[in-house]
Amino acid sequence: MDSFENLFKPMQIGQLRVANRIMMAAIGTNYSTPEGEVTERLVDFFRARARGETGLIVTEGAYVTQSGKECSCQLGIHKDELLPGLKELADKVHADGAKIFIQLFHAGRQTVSAVTGLDVLAPSPIPCQAVQEMPRQIAKDEIPQLIDAFGRAARRAQKAGFDGVELLVGHGHLINQFLSPYSNKREDEYGGSLENRMRFALEVLACVREAVGRDYPISCRISAEEYVEGGLEMEESIAFARRLVDEGIELLHVSGATYESGPMMVPPMLLPQNIFAEKARELKKALAGRVPVAVAGRIKDPRRAEDLIKEGKTDLVALGRALLADPEFPRKAREGRISEIRKCIGCNQGCMDRLLMQKDITCLGNPLCGRESEYGYEIEEAAAKKKVLVIGGGPGGMEAARTASLRGHEVLLYEREKQLGGKMLPAAVPPGKAEVGDLRVFLIEQLTKLPVKVVTGHEVDLHTVEKFAPDAVILAAGSKPLFPKIPGIEQENVAHADDILSGEKQLGLGERVLVVGGGLVGCEIANFAAEQGKNVYLLEMLAEIGADIGFFYKILLMTRMQERGVELHPETTLKEIKGNTVIAEHKGEDKEFENISTVVIAAGYEPDRGLLASLAEKYEVFSIGDCKEVRKMLEAIHEGFECSFRL
Ligand code: SF4
Repeated sequence: MDSFENLFKPMQIGQLRVANRIMMAAIGTNYSTPEGEVTERLVDFFRARARGETGLIVTEGAYVTQSGKECSCQLGIHKDELLPGLKELADKVHADGAKIFIQLFHAGRQTVSAVTGLDVLAPSPIPCQAVQEMPRQIAKDEIPQLIDAFGRAARRAQKAGFDGVELLVGHGHLINQFLSPYSNKREDEYGGSLENRMRFALEVLACVREAVGRDYPISCRISAEEYVEGGLEMEESIAFARRLVDEGIELLHVSGATYESGPMMVPPMLLPQNIFAEKARELKKALAGRVPVAVAGRIKDPRRAEDLIKEGKTDLVALGRALLADPEFPRKAREGRISEIRKCIGCNQGCMDRLLMQKDITCLGNPLCGRESEYGYEIEEAAAKKKVLVIGGGPGGMEAARTASLRGHEVLLYEREKQLGGKMLPAAVPPGKAEVGDLRVFLIEQLTKLPVKVVTGHEVDLHTVEKFAPDAVILAAGSKPLFPKIPGIEQENVAHADDILSGEKQLGLGERVLVVGGGLVGCEIANFAAEQGKNVYLLEMLAEIGADIGFFYKILLMTRMQERGVELHPETTLKEIKGNTVIAEHKGEDKEFENISTVVIAAGYEPDRGLLASLAEKYEVFSIGDCKEVRKMLEAIHEGFECSFRL
């Protein structure tokens, strides 16, 4: 059994003792009220992570003044009226055994006036390219008020019982904007030299320190590098970190990037795990043990987390999405139950993609995330036990079977293919997507441990159902590929993307591949084919390629396709395939693509409801996932969970 002797060593942060080295990194939730009040949902969300043995929780960024608000339902700490809720949050997390810091936040130019109801503020009138609202330059005489807002917020945090505060100095928010030569072009004493650009951060820190006293822990979360041209780089970050320590911080929390270098900030699965570990190592070395260092950035594996500490790269590991995916990550690691950890797959579907749309977050793989108030911290047994038949062993069907079994029901799961996984199998094949397979493995292992009877390679018919005599049938049969009804579609050189990815068909020997459909599947298969050295043409009917792809992942995927020379043809509709020539229409005119060796269809899916009508006559049938309506894996898994939870 893994010992994790470093991960579970207690940690001293100033005067504060933390039970282990696992810290929850701030992550926006949108669970508060529009006025910034703590809700029961937010409390229960953090309690679940405290009960899972996270040593130190850092809340999401709480705005210190209205102009710094970023999300419609973000946590606030800008007025005294919020104190009772904040106190309840701190008290309940303490009761569940964790320490808790609140992050003090001002968005600066990384927000919009539609959210704040005020001017967007920044050190200089330069809009953030990701947000694109022109900010108003903060006048010199406004600076003391902003600094004071941080100080007053820190005093509230202390009064509410938080164990410390974290200043958000990174990720392109206000303090970072002052620090950065990229976003700060001021000509007064707050701009220009590093000394001047650091001034705002150091004055905020001094004000916070004065508000909370010498012994109260202050953490600073920095972006070691901004990853924008002309932005902050390591040399200045090291100098800045040294100054922060000189001025009395107790913890340096290392992250990276800003909104403009978005994918690096919340790295999707195409980017490496532990992405900022080397930056943390450099900073830790520069600080020579004067304060502990924490590092964030796609840390999802407890063994690797242990190594990061053992190798001296960091003192604490800051987990964000890993704790959304599994709030019990720390406890399971400590107990050696590694395979029971539901790992974050870096998809961003349930968390960042939703947050960017001003929605509340959840997790693709963990339907309980953010719904602990509604469903409890764990699944409880149902009062009346039922016989449940699940048809379809894709993500939705497996989650439905898992949840139904945890509820104590007798569960029989049928999958027509030889392997469980459904669309998770092809989804894990394109470059950088292998982690989808982690979730598939997790679900299969869960089913193996539970008394779920699984039958694969069997097409269910009415006779099979009658024999089992279920009380409820969950239909999770998925979807079928759609093929455009055009001449030539049945030619030998035409294949569906799923068939290529599953290895049932090959791309062929020719050099030129044409992909029909520029949604997620089409872009991924185009990238896959291009990675194999093919010349790829991608046709999409709509004006936008990748309209259904999450923001950060899309940036990376489009960049990879561009690097690999994929030729994009938006507003182009397939008309006919004649041997190796493909004819398409673009704005009323025909376009010919010659010498195409393989045409790959990725033009969407339709629900597979084959058995629904006949089953519904005799049984209580619940359709979930794609066979209800074609959507993404998140909906399939969440519907599988909800359906079984209510049985
Ligand atoms: Fe990770 Fe995806 Fe869950 Fe976000 S939604 S926490 S990226 S698995």
